[in-house]
Amino acid sequence: MSEHGADAGTARTAELAGRLAAVQRRIGAAASAAGRAADLPALIVVSKFHPAADVRRLAGLGIRDFGENKDQEASAKAAELADLKLNWHFVGQLQSKKAKSVVKYARAVHSVDRLSLVDGLERAISAEQARTGRGSLDCFIQVSLDAGAGAHRGGADPAEVPILADRLAAAEGLELAGVMAVAPLGATPEDAFERLAGISAALVSRHPAAKAISAGMSQDLEAAIRFGATHLRIGSDILGSRPDVR
Ligand SMILES: *Cc1c(COP(=O)(O)O)cnc(C)c1O
Repeated sequence: MSEHGADAGTARTAELAGRLAAVQRRIGAAASAAGRAADLPALIVVSKFHPAADVRRLAGLGIRDFGENKDQEASAKAAELADLKLNWHFVGQLQSKKAKSVVKYARAVHSVDRLSLVDGLERAISAEQARTGRGSLDCFIQVSLDAGAGAHRGGADPAEVPILADRLAAAEGLELAGVMAVAPLGATPEDAFERLAGISAALVSRHPAAKAISAGMSQDLEAAIRFGATHLRIGSDILGSRPDVR
């Protein structure tokens, strides 16, 4: 690396450290306000569109959990950073045919939204476990909180959650972790996350271990923490803006 490159790398690390600290302060303040200072949510840094070098910098700052929403990008980063033993969370819409690739690197999938995907993941994890002895795959049921007309951001209808949950709980190699949602555009995140908390409570009454709530992004992490988020998925407020394509 040239001296100029090394300086740029150091500057980027300092920038990431500053942005990470600011987000961690927001998380701490929101958790205190919600009376859960001793029960902080897990932070997953969503690294989509940002280079593996940034993930390595953040790992150096103590982050272990990273999220990606495209298999091709995720598998390349996971391979490049295999030495770091990071926990990869798949958070994007997932085609069943990609399940085989995703189970090679992912600790968790946050976007399980249909029975055919559970079938695909179950087949894939069983083959992968036979091959490598890896642990089970944590699965979050992604719930759509869109009230019909709004832009659809993926996820199962809330009415489908019990069926998906029973299927996941019975699946070999898959661990039913809980629920996940993205706050719909044009609605207040508080309303969305309050609804998600209700869906979570109903799920937990049937599946007591499935307590996780994956909710909260850069813009709405405070609202998510207020309504019980256990896993935050934060991208742009830590890594900076990315091209506006999902
Ligand atoms: C990109 C993405 C995030 C992170 O969003 P930011 O607004 O950049 O914090 C979280 N969850 C999902 C599903 C995403 O696709």
